Amino acid sequence: MPSTILFESKNHRNILLEDFGHGQAVQANQHLVIHAGAGLILDPGGHKVFSRAMSETNALLGTGQLRYVFFSHQDPDIIAAANGWLMTTNAVAYISALWVRFVPHFGLDQLVANRLRAIPDQGMRLDMEDCRFTFLPAHFLHSPGNFQVYDPVSRILYSGDLGASLGTDYIEVPDFDEHIKYMEGFHRRYMASGKAMRSWARMVRSLDIELIAPQHGAFFRGKAMVSRFVDWCDGLECGVDVMTDFAVPA
Ligand code: FE
Repeated sequence: MPSTILFESKNHRNILLEDFGHGQAVQANQHLVIHAGAGLILDPGGHKVFSRAMSETNALLGTGQLRYVFFSHQDPDIIAAANGWLMTTNAVAYISALWVRFVPHFGLDQLVANRLRAIPDQGMRLDMEDCRFTFLPAHFLHSPGNFQVYDPVSRILYSGDLGASLGTDYIEVPDFDEHIKYMEGFHRRYMASGKAMRSWARMVRSLDIELIAPQHGAFFRGKAMVSRFVDWCDGLECGVDVMTDFAVPA
């Protein structure tokens, strides 16, 4: 599994584990943050990537420990392997309070169910050693109970499905205007409303962001690229804004 370092300092590393080319399954990124020997994995993926993502994570952690698992929302490409991650580590996992009782349907063992914790609707802070992450609310983008993670050390915003692109052959967006065609269809159909997009844009403009890393496709690096993306979201009509009236199929 190829990995890319997105940020590195003395005691902090942000690593992208790429999962390209899995037949019918949508391409997905797994992100690992290691701070002072402790690990946080974000949206660790489904069964097809579990064993490779786990062994890669263990190799990168070395003598360190996986402390937390973060699930941005309830989709199978994110939580299908929840049981495996909890059974083989002592990590505590976080997901929206809306979904915490649905995850056990993926076969969560009784032994680990108490290590799955609910994120309240307004979001929360999470300390890992002396690094304080923020779980930012991003509801309806696209899931009704949906969170993103801001890392104040690397200044990376992990945006989950927001910013997802499909069909690119690069991992870093080189040209924003050229990149729109890989995002537009997905965002118009999956993101629930322009109201949620505008509220998100207003919230994230208050943060110091160097890189936005979605769960699918390429990431956005640098202040200029980040603000292009935030502005694009701010102005996008999507979801219920552009839906057509339902009709009974012929
Ligand atoms: Fe999703």
